[in-house]
Amino acid sequence: MTKFEALGLDKPLLDAISDLGFETPSEVQEKSIPILLEQDTDLVALAQTGTGKTAAFGFPMIQKIQADSRTTQGLILSPTRELCLQITNELKLYSKYVKGLNTVAIYGGASITEQAKQIKRGAQIVVATPGRMKDMIGRKMVDISKIDYCVLDEADEMLNMGFFEDIKDILSNTPKEKLTWLFSATMPKEVATIAKKFMHQPVEITVGTKNAGASTVQHEYYVVGGRDRYAALKRLADANPGIFSVVFCRTKRDTQRVAEKLIEDGYNAGALHGDLSQNQRDLVMNAFRKKQVQMLVATDVAARGIDVDDITHVINYQLPDEIETYTHRSGRTGRAGKSGISMVIVTRSELRKIKTIEKIVKQEFVAKKIPSGIEICEIQLYHLANRIKDTKINKEIDPYLPAINDVLEGIDRDELIKKMVSVEFTQFTNYYSKTKDLNTSDSGTSERGQKGGADTGNSGSVRYFINIGERDGYDWMSLKDFLRDTLNLEKEDIYNVDTKDSFSFFNSDAQLTDLILQTFSEFKVDGRFINVEVSKNPGGSGKGGGRKRDRNRGSRKSGGNKSFKGGKKGGYGKKGGKKRQGFY
Ligand code: ADP
Ligand code: MG
Repeated sequence: MTKFEALGLDKPLLDAISDLGFETPSEVQEKSIPILLEQDTDLVALAQTGTGKTAAFGFPMIQKIQADSRTTQGLILSPTRELCLQITNELKLYSKYVKGLNTVAIYGGASITEQAKQIKRGAQIVVATPGRMKDMIGRKMVDISKIDYCVLDEADEMLNMGFFEDIKDILSNTPKEKLTWLFSATMPKEVATIAKKFMHQPVEITVGTKNAGASTVQHEYYVVGGRDRYAALKRLADANPGIFSVVFCRTKRDTQRVAEKLIEDGYNAGALHGDLSQNQRDLVMNAFRKKQVQMLVATDVAARGIDVDDITHVINYQLPDEIETYTHRSGRTGRAGKSGISMVIVTRSELRKIKTIEKIVKQEFVAKKIPSGIEICEIQLYHLANRIKDTKINKEIDPYLPAINDVLEGIDRDELIKKMVSVEFTQFTNYYSKTKDLNTSDSGTSERGQKGGADTGNSGSVRYFINIGERDGYDWMSLKDFLRDTLNLEKEDIYNVDTKDSFSFFNSDAQLTDLILQTFSEFKVDGRFINVEVSKNPGGSGKGGGRKRDRNRGSRKSGGNKSFKGGKKGGYGKKGGKKRQGFY
């Protein structure tokens, strides 16, 4: 008996679940499904985004609905068109072995008559945005007077968006005896009011702590001058070559402006806000899903319902007006068991807001420094080397090879590598050699600062490079665990772990350097050498000039550019280099 079977689910669902590859129920599923299957009760379930709420109400609803009747029996209200479509798609997958069951999505911005036609053909489950639902009720295009189940999904977001009156109207068209299941990430007053007003003694389920952000998200902030926001954003992107992110701005205008600038500067960016047509928004979202857009610049409202699982970074270009909105933003990353980073660019005068947010997310922020030009150059250099290593050779070059060989004759391998890297890289170093330190000197940050932040220059902390990264399945949490376990260290000994696509950085206190370098000389995992080098920059600290460039000496053998030679293959690099934004 599988764990899903133990929850009381029948064969058609179990078969679909096994097709989907779900192995174990998530916590909210484990808690809600048996209750919803066995009891005719209202339910309030609080769980973060990405915890599998759709299946938590979808499985029981599908199982309880009479598929042989064409009557509409289940209504799911959800805040945005995107979510509506996602839920509908999920439900279709869940019910693929339930004969005759039809799920129809209705939402604004698409033909209402077409949607009415679909409903008329028979839809036992209707998934709707409140606005369009109200519209269709008014035009008698849909009949919800006989529904047995009503789901309010993402209730907090629906209320945030001002759908209270619409929801009230819609519910007044439903039978009194129906059951109402409310799902929400947070429980603000308004949601409590809805629960009180429209529900009867609901069973309450909470997954994790109420209102807390997912703990898989690391929160970071960067203090800059107000005018340096954009430059700071660019550096954060450059320092994370594999970035796949949502960048939040406060207004539609800023959103458009920042996106345009990024595109001009050669990044794979796109804008998402309410002034765009539905068609434009669909195009951007599709490009984002396909990762053709790496930086989606969005307003809070437009970003509601973005349900993309592997967003690596959320960047708060500006903090939201309503501090509570921060949770929704940061919840776009760290989904489906992955880890993520939420970065906030703040000015000194906004620093106290960070404290308020810490209370809401119940997690401390890490005070970070905008990477310096040198640090970014180093990261990009490794990234470039890895891209060269991973590039599939283009056979069409073959006919030209003899001529190319002639041109390059007499240049030895080392020199050739240097030259090739320089071709791409010089432009970049030129750009960054002219840039200044963007960090606002601020006692507030260094006092609580990241360990090894401000004083890394001469004492305390050492920054390392390691030739494994996200592509090898690591994120900052699991890499930290790996290092601690391998080195037999304590929880606090390894910090500032920054994973990139095919390599990473981390810090330790200086007295651990010998241990770390010795452990990782000739260290192999699955036949692949894992290299650790002392990084040329102290990391995180963009401060202080006169950094020595030859800190690479010490117990390490010849040092230098080992990582360029890379590992010995062995099942890595499954995806080839991700697309990277340009940086000029
Ligand atoms: P939420 O509504 O809580 O934000 P979703 O229902 O959208 O979360 O689920 C997030 C992702 O997790 C979806 O891609 C979904 O298919 C997947 N998922 C849901 N339940 C499971 C499970 N038990 N095992 C594995 N993946 C799951
Ligand atoms: Mg959901």
